[in-house]
Amino acid sequence: MNARFQAAVAGGGAVGLACALLLNRRCDWNVALVERSAPRETEGEGPQRALTLSPGAVETLTECGLSPGREDVPPSTRTRRPRSQEFRAHAFSRMVVWRGEGGPASGNSITFDAAELGARMLGCVAHEAPLRRALWNRAQECKGIRVYSGAALASVRIDEDCGYLDLDNGEEIGAELLIGADGAQSKLRSALGIEFRSTGYGQTGLVFEADCSEPGGDTAWQRFEDDGVLALLPLSESRMSIVWSLPDERAERLKRLDDKGLGAELNKAGAGVAGELVPVTPIASFPLRRGRAEQACGERYALVGEAARTVHPLAGQGLNLGLGDAEALARVCAGQGDALIGDARVLGRFARERAHYGEEMSFGIHAINAAFEGAMAPLAALGMGAVDRAPPLKRALAARAMR
Ligand SMILES: Cc1cc2nc3c(=O)[nH]c(=O)nc-3n(C[C@H](O)[C@H](O)[C@H](O)COP(=O)(O)OP(=O)(O)OC[C@H]3O[C@@H](n4cnc5c(N)ncnc54)[C@H](O)[C@@H]3O)c2cc1C
Repeated sequence: MNARFQAAVAGGGAVGLACALLLNRRCDWNVALVERSAPRETEGEGPQRALTLSPGAVETLTECGLSPGREDVPPSTRTRRPRSQEFRAHAFSRMVVWRGEGGPASGNSITFDAAELGARMLGCVAHEAPLRRALWNRAQECKGIRVYSGAALASVRIDEDCGYLDLDNGEEIGAELLIGADGAQSKLRSALGIEFRSTGYGQTGLVFEADCSEPGGDTAWQRFEDDGVLALLPLSESRMSIVWSLPDERAERLKRLDDKGLGAELNKAGAGVAGELVPVTPIASFPLRRGRAEQACGERYALVGEAARTVHPLAGQGLNLGLGDAEALARVCAGQGDALIGDARVLGRFARERAHYGEEMSFGIHAINAAFEGAMAPLAALGMGAVDRAPPLKRALAARAMR
């Protein structure tokens, strides 16, 4: 065996990195992190995925040592290069969700307003790549974290007093607690024989960016169409990230359109809420699936992020849930004392808390998706107006999404 740690994290996506940083910070543990592909230094030309972060997720990232800068400062007026721990995020304080033809007319929309909810913001929008890179830089700088970069997890073994990650470069890492943060296709999960039940929605998520003619960086928009969901998320005063969840065939058709054709479809669906929209990046597409691991922990292991569950992106919660897992795991471990590292009963407390919350969110997202399809659609439209006129219900929905 090459090295032994208190915890070893498989997967250096945003969730795995946050997990390593929080376990080191709150428990003072030595942590190993294994990632097969390090983030690139530059973002490149390709389309970038933007994510909506809840205020709770921003708090967790701040504890990890990140500082959200402002996305809307034009590059020419920036006076210095961003520091390694900075990622740019654009805060929004209003969200309008609507359904039906045309814009968000009264009766078929819900408006969430941060001021009404007593909050500073509802969330913020950030590109995933710089966010992950900032976390990566923090982990590299941290003395208690050893990053194994460029090596993939090949197999896993758990003995009575230690767990082992075997890497494809021949190295072996021993740790009292193994954490699977290696995404939806988790090798750690499959190596331990844990089943992952997953179903496709028959939908594809299209992601690209568009410039908008009406400045309105304070508001995020979400429209439920008969067969899809369009989200317009403000990246700056004049740029929106578009996340469009559509049946596979319609998504394929839109992907084949030229810029003019795509712009026409987008403006029709967007109903002019942000003025005219002009697509400015290529489209990235993602098949949409919902899934859950049969078991999120056991003796000497725990699963976090997409290794534990995947949810529909329409509520913008996947990463928020994963960061919540990282926070909860570090909190439970910090409260237990080092004699019980990796103890299944202790980890069970983490798993029960997250299963409850994860299922609630996953079910909620799934239910919204189902409610706005097919025969239920007119009922759902009525429901939206009713929710908008019921402040306690609206506050309850918002509070859940802002955690
Ligand atoms: C279209 C779309 C829009 C979304 N929008 C939002 C949003 O607005 N808000 C939100 O919160 N979430 C959103 N999500 C979900 C979010 O992107 C994911 O939940 C989140 O990025 C998952 O993070 P993760 O760290 O768990 O997994 P990943 O990001 O998949 O990271 C896993 C890491 O493990 C590494 N790895 C895998 N296997 C191995 C191995 N064998 N050895 C070593 N390393 C390995 C991979 O290289 C990767 O770096 C969206 C998703 C989609 C598809």
